[in-house]
Amino acid sequence: MFQLGVTRRQFLSWSNKLLITGGFAAQSGLLISQEHSGSKPEKAEDYYDKLGVQKIINAAGTYTYLTASIMPPSVQAAVAEAAKHPVRFKDLQIASGEYLAKRLKCEAALVTSGACSALTLGTAAALTASHPDAIARIPWDMTGLKNEVIVQKTHRYDYDHALQNCGVRFVEVETAEEYRAAFNERTVLTHYFNAAANTGKIRREEWIRIAHEHNVPCMNDAAADVPPISNLWNYTQMGFDLVCFSGGKGMRGPQNAGLLLGRKQLIDAARANDSPISETIGRGMKVAKEQIVGMVAAVDWFLSQSDEDMQKTFHARADYIAKSLRGIPTLTSRIYVPEIANQIPHLLLRYDTSKVKISPLEVAEHLRKGTPSIELNPATGTRQRIGVPSDESTIVVGVWMLQPGEERIVASRLHEVLAAAA
Ligand SMILES: *Cc1c(COP(=O)(O)O)cnc(C)c1O
Repeated sequence: MFQLGVTRRQFLSWSNKLLITGGFAAQSGLLISQEHSGSKPEKAEDYYDKLGVQKIINAAGTYTYLTASIMPPSVQAAVAEAAKHPVRFKDLQIASGEYLAKRLKCEAALVTSGACSALTLGTAAALTASHPDAIARIPWDMTGLKNEVIVQKTHRYDYDHALQNCGVRFVEVETAEEYRAAFNERTVLTHYFNAAANTGKIRREEWIRIAHEHNVPCMNDAAADVPPISNLWNYTQMGFDLVCFSGGKGMRGPQNAGLLLGRKQLIDAARANDSPISETIGRGMKVAKEQIVGMVAAVDWFLSQSDEDMQKTFHARADYIAKSLRGIPTLTSRIYVPEIANQIPHLLLRYDTSKVKISPLEVAEHLRKGTPSIELNPATGTRQRIGVPSDESTIVVGVWMLQPGEERIVASRLHEVLAAAA
């Protein structure tokens, strides 16, 4: 037994269990399962080092190409624990959905493979909710299915493909009048891009009301729109039938997890289009047991936070960096909080490039190539359609995905590079 590497204390505690379970066979089974489940603490090998993949300081934000976020310790521990035991996939999928629906005050929930697959599964749900026979044939045979999704022209975006995967086509509208006129017997869904709410003419409540007048469900992509925490229920309670969130962004869950929240009938239909069922559009969008558990644990963690404390922490980091750069000629700093999407403090640093002779893009490159390697927010040195008001002479520091203390490294590297060019 001791060759399995158990300590005397573990052995004694298992001996007690032996007395309770009353048999040596039961005890050796216990030993073996404990051994296989890896409960013996083992030092993890650093595969980033082994593979030669450089670790970075994320002064950008929850960007997919930078692996989004770091799971808090409680979430990492829940993922590691979940990895120790097989379960019945469906049991976990259903139980996690029921638990999340209760915590997030909606009828039903499904853990999806990111917000992107929530969009695909939500669309598939609307298509097949009353045509389960079509699940196995979308998108290549749309016979007998409605296939039009109404969307505001300004809400067309990078994630259109996630809906189009299901064989639907978009019908664009601009005014409420056009919206009303666009409904017909082929309309299956209306779609809203939450972060672009202010770019279109139709507000959320009106969008929902008109869809429901025509008995058509509406979906809202709010992938990047927490914090505030309450957004996790604001949009379902407003009346959206389906709401998508990314799990790996503000909630700091596993990067390949997300949430589809909404009406029970539609969430049931989304699940019918999802892994582990093979002949479905969602079969390749599998979320492993570790990530399903990680997503639930991340929601628990996120709900235990307060918006005030999170904002205070992020502001303090931005202030620290701004103060450290006071000596740089012409440099001014400003903290900007977007109205929606990534609604957290971003530090904007502007300076005169004729006095400090290095462009923001060059600063970003210096920080990237330095040690440790730092990634600044991609709005640095550019103008964007929505989001942070940056331009050619602005450095943008995203502080919310920094690990505690890293603001000092970012501040000192920025100071070093800017001072050298001043
Ligand atoms: C990030 C994002 C997505 C995709 O989220 P994943 O969780 O990476 O799949 C979809 N829509 C919007 C608006 C996003 O910001």
